[in-house]
Amino acid sequence: MSLLPNAITAIQQTIKNHEAEITELDKAIGDGDHVINLQRGLAALAAINEELSKLSWPMALQKVGMTLMSTMGGASGSLFGTLFVKMAKASSAEMNLATFSDAFSAGVESVQQRGKAELGEKTMLDTLIPVANSLQLSANSKLSMTEALQAVKQVAIAGMESTKELQATKGRASFLGERAIGHIDPGARTSQLMICAIADLLLTKQ
Ligand code: ADP
Ligand code: MG
Repeated sequence: MSLLPNAITAIQQTIKNHEAEITELDKAIGDGDHVINLQRGLAALAAINEELSKLSWPMALQKVGMTLMSTMGGASGSLFGTLFVKMAKASSAEMNLATFSDAFSAGVESVQQRGKAELGEKTMLDTLIPVANSLQLSANSKLSMTEALQAVKQVAIAGMESTKELQATKGRASFLGERAIGHIDPGARTSQLMICAIADLLLTKQ
């Protein structure tokens, strides 16, 4: 399975390209370390790319989640880790739009429980929840993979942008009160960049 290693490489590239921007976002409403945390986790994943490529989907997703949890640090480390560990539990060996959508939704629900956050609290969930909903809708409406991926990209970007005008009620940014308004949430931005990188990778294969 080459999809996962290719996705990790594509994600590392897009995060590298936006490194300075993400640092600025987390400096504005957090402590500035989000991109460092994420890059540490991605480097740990890249180091086990070979191993990941030999595993089944559930085993590979479990390994990704555990690796992120143990290497990333920050609030985002345990949340992204949780996303993949729960996806692993909810996924089957066969991956198609319907099974992936169910696994992703389960993963996002687990992030919500762990972070005790909902839509509209200016976090990564403002990207993740609309993407989970869009995947479910596409799977239920039997859209083609290309249509589903294009829809995912659109809602990920809209969700990320929606965080700009929100006041944060969870995470470090919540300490700023109204002063967080006007800044995009760093975790919403990195979630969107990663999702769009995977969607682009899959779109080139359609
Ligand atoms: P830390 O805030 O511990 O420094 P990071 O900087 O790596 O961790 O990650 C910050 C990001 O984590 C935020 O931009 C936000 O998207 C996400 N986040 C923080 N708290 C929560 C929460 N309770 N629920 C969901 N996401 C959260
Ligand atoms: Mg931080």
